[in-house]
Amino acid sequence: MQLFKNLFSKPLSTQLKVTSSNGFHLRPVARFTTLAKSFTCDVTASFNNKIVDAKKVNTLLSLSLEKENTFTLITQGKDAQKALDALQTLFEKLMKDDIEVTSIKKETSNYIGDILEGDIITKGVAIAPTTMYNTEIIQHENNLTFKEAVKQTIQSLEETYKSQKENSNADIYLAQKELLSALDEKCGSLEELETLIKKESHNLEGTKLSAKITDYQDILQQVKISLGLEVKVHFPEHAFILLADDLLPSEITLLSNTRVQGIVLKNTSINSHTSILLRAVGIPSLIANTKNIPLNKEILLDSFAGVVVLTPSNEDIQKARNLQEKTKEQKKYSDSKRFESASTTQGKQIKVFANVGDIESAKVAKDEGAEGIGLLRSEFLFKSVKPTLEAQTKAYAEIFETFDDITVRTLDVGGDKALPYLHIPLEDNPFLGIRGVRLFRTHPEILEEQLHAIFIASQGKQIKIMFPMVSTVEEFNKAKSFAQAIAQKQNIDISHIDFGIMIEVPSVLFLIEAFNEVVDFYSIGTNDLTQYLFAVERTHPLLKVDQLSPVVFSALKNIVTHATKPISICGELAANSDAIDKLVNLGLTTLSVSPKSIAQTKEQIRHV
Ligand code: PEP
Ligand code: MG
Repeated sequence: MQLFKNLFSKPLSTQLKVTSSNGFHLRPVARFTTLAKSFTCDVTASFNNKIVDAKKVNTLLSLSLEKENTFTLITQGKDAQKALDALQTLFEKLMKDDIEVTSIKKETSNYIGDILEGDIITKGVAIAPTTMYNTEIIQHENNLTFKEAVKQTIQSLEETYKSQKENSNADIYLAQKELLSALDEKCGSLEELETLIKKESHNLEGTKLSAKITDYQDILQQVKISLGLEVKVHFPEHAFILLADDLLPSEITLLSNTRVQGIVLKNTSINSHTSILLRAVGIPSLIANTKNIPLNKEILLDSFAGVVVLTPSNEDIQKARNLQEKTKEQKKYSDSKRFESASTTQGKQIKVFANVGDIESAKVAKDEGAEGIGLLRSEFLFKSVKPTLEAQTKAYAEIFETFDDITVRTLDVGGDKALPYLHIPLEDNPFLGIRGVRLFRTHPEILEEQLHAIFIASQGKQIKIMFPMVSTVEEFNKAKSFAQAIAQKQNIDISHIDFGIMIEVPSVLFLIEAFNEVVDFYSIGTNDLTQYLFAVERTHPLLKVDQLSPVVFSALKNIVTHATKPISICGELAANSDAIDKLVNLGLTTLSVSPKSIAQTKEQIRHV
């Protein structure tokens, strides 16, 4: 049957380049294989003369794809085209979203006692006696067979993944689930699983994928727990700093009911799943050689500075306590004032809005004290399947309920963001090709439906619509006329809607006077503006532009000097602690930032 299927369908293929410095590692691979499995066609990947099944985590990982490697994705069978398009889109997104933490910048310190340097996992300060991570294993009677225990573990990982789906760490559980499913096919007993994991771990030692060893151990431990194994950990009753070779990701939850103040791990990496989860729970942690740290003695962990003070003097302790207190107070203070407006020391009020991408992030923004939505990235609705008018209307209506002041941006795909059903001819320079407002020319039907949905959802609400990537006044005029024509065709009153542009293309810097005549507002997108000012792709793996370059500020000054309509800024620069005072001093009065940056942005404004 399979043979017939493949005999009569031609294989389709595409080249995919790994752009993340982390390589194509476990978490993105798990997301990729999960999607691949949803198609009936065969999905394979070929690299260095090796062809593997791309529906399985282990086989795909065995290609050891690193940054700059290009592999061929091949699909063959009934839904081959659909699979190829969807997998390509997902792969590009995974690469783009895979943020690498190379190292966390250390602050200077001047402690008197002996110091051990380390790499920062999570910033913070802890002062407490050390304790070594110690587990006691107890085997209970259990009626489950090995296969049943594996099934139960897979189910439990799946449940954890689903319950945390909104959370960026959820992929860790999906990755472990996929890994265990792949191992399950090869093992019939616990002994076989142990042997296989031992072998795989040995092969991974010293390679770029060595962080996966911890996931293997975690999986093994979880299967054993399903088989009746109890892992007892003895933590002191008093406050303590935990020393361990490494922790398994699943063991981090064991710490939640303890008095742990800080953690020092010997054998982990800054990007391991353990480190990612430690950052999520916020326990001050460091990677350092635990062998050099005395046991059961009070030490000082300052992971702002990336140091352990092994023999802290009274003065060191006092210094650390002050720092600890200051940090705690600062966070508590800015959090407590997050619902208050932010004014500078001169009494100038600055609005702090949120950049959101869907209803969940809009709700978080509300909780974090946002005063409105400065940028609703509408791309979230446009996934592998085209959203219907009804789905779009429902989603916008829900988000429009959250705040009184909302700016929604029309679809901004193209460039690095592809959509399977949006056919853009191959371009040599996609970032300079069809993207943003240029889609009005090439795909008017998609924009017509989107605007129609926004119009229905905004009835009775004062909202703003902005067009991305506008480069000429004519482009704006055409897009606005297009919107007005749709409103007329659908007989919807849009007199309550303001129309504006994102300032992202340098040509606009020289056209502000002309734009003043036609737009209702501006929003500065420094992410793209910087990319186009310096002609450096924002996703380029090697080339980086200084976001704080005087060139960027002089472009902003030019806008502020010449614009006569309200201006806000929604690029990443708006939340940059080294830029906020400069932006405010330039005269910007609305900063739109990610929800989690709202409290601290407001607090910083209060000191300008
Ligand atoms: C920008 O370019 O600064 C911006 C906010 O838009 P995006 O990052 O969505 O392109
Ligand atoms: Mg942009």
